[in-house]
Amino acid sequence: MQKQSLFTNRQAILATMHKKEQVIAPIFKEELGMEVIIPADFNTDIFGTFSREIQRVGTQIEAARCKAEKALEITGGKIAIASEGSFIPHPHLPYISSNQEIVILIDKEQDLEIIGEEFSIETNHNHQVVQNLEEAFIFAKKVGFPEHGLIIMFNENPQDTHEVFKGINTEEKLIEAVDFTLKNSPTGKAHIETDMRAMYNPTRMKNIEKATRNLITKIKSSCPRCATPGFQIMGRIPGLPCAMCNSPTLLTKAVIYQCQRCGFKQEKSFPDGIEFADPGQCMYCNP
Ligand SMILES: [Zn+2]
Ligand SMILES: [Zn+2]
Repeated sequence: MQKQSLFTNRQAILATMHKKEQVIAPIFKEELGMEVIIPADFNTDIFGTFSREIQRVGTQIEAARCKAEKALEITGGKIAIASEGSFIPHPHLPYISSNQEIVILIDKEQDLEIIGEEFSIETNHNHQVVQNLEEAFIFAKKVGFPEHGLIIMFNENPQDTHEVFKGINTEEKLIEAVDFTLKNSPTGKAHIETDMRAMYNPTRMKNIEKATRNLITKIKSSCPRCATPGFQIMGRIPGLPCAMCNSPTLLTKAVIYQCQRCGFKQEKSFPDGIEFADPGQCMYCNP
């Protein structure tokens, strides 16, 4: 159920040219009663591309903020939404790729910035060098082609390459791009990779949707003192007691919510719904 909020019936500009409105707009409409619109001719590639022709400047959050600010500048709007993804090896499992998505909301009228996030190992992010069409098709099948798009170029460095084929999502296009690249690249090989742009990557689109839902949860959480939206977890306190010996473990005992406007803090105990840690996590019971 929707209730009236600071955002009801307001308009947000979504800084995208990759069809992210498909997942973001319905959620904002349904949850906050907001209309999400796309600026005409908005080029987000100047902020960096996954295929490395243009390197991203700054952190993921800075890049998202930049896009949102640009959209506000161009349109004269008051609220902007932007998203930014990154693909990195999993912090604890280096052979597994992971996808970190953030969705930022900036409200100039209320001087607010709220960020939703999703960390997932659900990604097809991958690349390979192929020497013939058969290898290209084996790779394509593995990464969910043709629902997921592909990129083909001479080598992994798009600056060195004469032709970059992007958004390949049919067999005909794949055959054409691989044939051309094998014939014309100096090594006689082709670099093939997954196209990570949202409209060519339904797996990534799902993660953007989850980050958007996380953002909505944060927007709907308001400060008990001043009612500003974005009352969110800013810290964790370890020390959840062991179920066997009661010693503190490294697991989270409580989280601290903080208001970005008035600084009000509130502690919430047992955020994961458990009051004791599994003895397997205890350094005395399971050294
Ligand atoms: Zn407050
Ligand atoms: Zn113990």
